[in-house]
Amino acid sequence: MVDKHGRRMRKLRISLLDACNLRCLYCMPESPVFMPQKDWASAKDLLHITRNLVALGIEEIRLTGGEPLMRRDFVEIVDALSTLPVKTLGLTTNALLLAPYLSMLQHTQLQQLNISLDSLDAKNFKRITRRDALGTVTDAIHTAKALGFTIKINTVVMKGVNDHELPAFVAWSAVHDIPVRFLEVMNIGVMKSQFRERFLSAFDMKAMLKADYRFSKLNDVVDSTSRNFRVSNGAKIGFITSESSPFCTGCSRLRLTPKGQIRPCLFMQEGIDLKSLAPEDYPKALATIIAMKPVGRIPHQPQPMYQIGG
Ligand code: SAM
Ligand code: SF4
Repeated sequence: MVDKHGRRMRKLRISLLDACNLRCLYCMPESPVFMPQKDWASAKDLLHITRNLVALGIEEIRLTGGEPLMRRDFVEIVDALSTLPVKTLGLTTNALLLAPYLSMLQHTQLQQLNISLDSLDAKNFKRITRRDALGTVTDAIHTAKALGFTIKINTVVMKGVNDHELPAFVAWSAVHDIPVRFLEVMNIGVMKSQFRERFLSAFDMKAMLKADYRFSKLNDVVDSTSRNFRVSNGAKIGFITSESSPFCTGCSRLRLTPKGQIRPCLFMQEGIDLKSLAPEDYPKALATIIAMKPVGRIPHQPQPMYQIGG
């Protein structure tokens, strides 16, 4: 699964559903309309699809959404995917429902948790997510860390909303020994109308921290989406520069929508339904998808992030 630009497709991002129990300002409208559950690819469909994609070279799988832990068959899905010979199986979650799942997840292949946390201040957390849940999320993070899961925090930084919390996140990362990755807000879905007002580049984020901290660059793998640093206070932080310096030239990722459609890129709406495809037809379908993969960043995506899978 190598395209004509030498990019090897080895990562699969699976969106399990579009629904969510938060309403983050940069991701969802206040009253979103979600797809009917009957349209979701079932656990059986997901196993069929991923098994065929793994046979063609996928070696890292990450479950996302919407909020993946809202799927009632989440355990069934993780158990099924745990049977596949992949290097990593990960989950991107807002962690609201995470705590009760942790002891079960300990016994599966799913050991990598990317947890979204955009504020360390309860009021600001509520402003951003439109729900009062900071304590639930941080409790789950600390329990997961104590149980030995590999955790990364994803923090979407918005000018005038949570950029003043950057130093607090750097301090928090050092105290708890948990890496924090600062994400540039992307010009996608609901962000389109406020993008100019809210966008803060990674360059500017770093400039805001430079007076108090020194940064040492860490070595990143070639298809890493994050530029990672060790900070002088001991924190490990990263910047995900999706807007200011997109990582398309090293992109190794394919995406599966909740309906079971494979897409070449977050910024494309075209794809192929894999649910009922016979195993012998996968190589041709994948070749078509990989040939569609753009080389450079498409300016914006009208479809919201929660419908595609962030
Ligand atoms: N609900 C889960 C969560 O929040 O972690 C998984 C789905 S969420 C769509 C996946 C990631 O996309 C989160 O880290 C979220 O912060 C990020 N995201 C959503 N909209 C974004 C935007 N407009 N710009 C940058 N990141 C965004
Ligand atoms: Fe939900 Fe994640 Fe979107 Fe926030 S970013 S609304 S938690 S899907």
